[in-house]
Amino acid sequence: MICPKRTSELLDLHLAPFKDKDPAWEIGVSKIAGRGVVATRSLKRGEIIFRDSPLLIGLAAHEEDSLNACSVCLKMLPDTRFMCRQGCGLPVCSLCAKKKQHKSDCDLLKSWGPNEPDVANSVIIRLLCVARALNLSKEQRDLIYCLQANLDNNHRTEVRNAAKCFKNFPTDKKIIEIMNRTVAVLRTNGFDKTTDRTNDNQEFNYRALYPLFGVVNHDCIPNAYYTFEDKTNNMIVRAAVDIPEGFEVTTTYTKLFTGNIARHLFLKMKKSFTCKCSRCSDPTEKGAFISGLYCRDTNCTGLVVPEISGLPHPNWNCLECKQKSTHAQMMKSQDFASGAINAKANSNSLRTLVQYLNEKSDSFIPSSNYVVIDAKMSVLQRLQQGREDCSEELAHNTRLRYSRDITQLMDKLGLGDSLLRTHMEEMLRREEERRAKRLAEEAEKQRKLAELQAKAAEADKLLEVLEKEQAEQAEQDAKSGAVGTADPGTAPAPPPAATVELA
Ligand SMILES: [Zn+2]
Ligand SMILES: [Zn+2]
Ligand SMILES: [Zn+2]
Ligand SMILES: [Zn+2]
Repeated sequence: MICPKRTSELLDLHLAPFKDKDPAWEIGVSKIAGRGVVATRSLKRGEIIFRDSPLLIGLAAHEEDSLNACSVCLKMLPDTRFMCRQGCGLPVCSLCAKKKQHKSDCDLLKSWGPNEPDVANSVIIRLLCVARALNLSKEQRDLIYCLQANLDNNHRTEVRNAAKCFKNFPTDKKIIEIMNRTVAVLRTNGFDKTTDRTNDNQEFNYRALYPLFGVVNHDCIPNAYYTFEDKTNNMIVRAAVDIPEGFEVTTTYTKLFTGNIARHLFLKMKKSFTCKCSRCSDPTEKGAFISGLYCRDTNCTGLVVPEISGLPHPNWNCLECKQKSTHAQMMKSQDFASGAINAKANSNSLRTLVQYLNEKSDSFIPSSNYVVIDAKMSVLQRLQQGREDCSEELAHNTRLRYSRDITQLMDKLGLGDSLLRTHMEEMLRREEERRAKRLAEEAEKQRKLAELQAKAAEADKLLEVLEKEQAEQAEQDAKSGAVGTADPGTAPAPPPAATVELA
């Protein structure tokens, strides 16, 4: 472990532009692993803990259709005709072509002699983030070396493959070593589509290294969350819950709604450690039952959860009848349920999926299970893009119901603020408002109807009186007519037919 003091000094240099004179954090020895970021005073939920800027940032260039972006400002360009005319093999917008950043990128890559400088090449564009480490100051590079790096067999592949795209790629061992190390540090601590570091459903399409954030350790119920500033790509880390002084600031490296076994496997494989947080030590995951399945005994209504053993294939226990099942047995149930729900999710009808989740899936899989949660999240996402074949009524009810389900799940897990929570709560509030408005409109309609009915009743009464009067008049006329001459022309008119029409 590199000493926390040296890490602090290098981080101070990196963060100097933010001029935070009284930071709420320090680098200290962590209870979770090695060193971590510790709160030096108590922090209120929502309060900013720190800001960080990217030490390295570049285009991720994972897909061919994302190659038409500027390698400096990272903005999308209208097409791929923006390759630098100097022959460095990088796409760059006309504004950034004159900037210092491109000058140093350009000189470096030109000296390596790209084979086809006029063609956007994802390997070269992707490598830029790594190659930029060569142009950093000594302190900045030391900071990269201060960060955790998983130096497995694969970390050299990227640079080795990139070498094939240049005529004079460096052979100097030191230079190659710096780039390989940077790849490993990026893979362990950086943001990239492949590293799956985003916990919050936020789109961050770049490859980037935020050094202070890189020191923040993992917890499956993180007490901090982050957002990015659009213009600068600076990161803002806030307290997700109240954090007492001396407590470690944590983030999550895994998706929030995966079960204990899947999270453990991911952390073991990708991050090389075993999480021992409070959620991981609880087979029910704080009563959220994200891995929960129904008991195999059809007479038992209990939920079955995996044992906390640290093994990839643990035994499972029914919380009701205490029956033990093997991992393979329970995986059969899980695979069946996942298959059934995914088949509906992959069909084109959103309405079918929603109806299936609302009416059918509960009979074979508990609604707390991650496959149901995932499906609900994808329904909400699809609804955001359009209603597809859902009626307005169904779309509204679904948004209301699912955003409530997910908010409740976050509450159960003890998860504080996050972008996802903000998003869900906003949706819930909007839908509740819409429902209240609809109820008010319905009540108004009813009131108007009642008013009309009262008026009609009044009219009926008036007519009744009128008819009665007319009848009396007719009777009188008849009496007087019997005395005088009978003249058919002055015979009383029949009672008006209006009564019938009104009714
Ligand atoms: Zn640009
Ligand atoms: Zn250039
Ligand atoms: Zn954990
Ligand atoms: Zn049971």
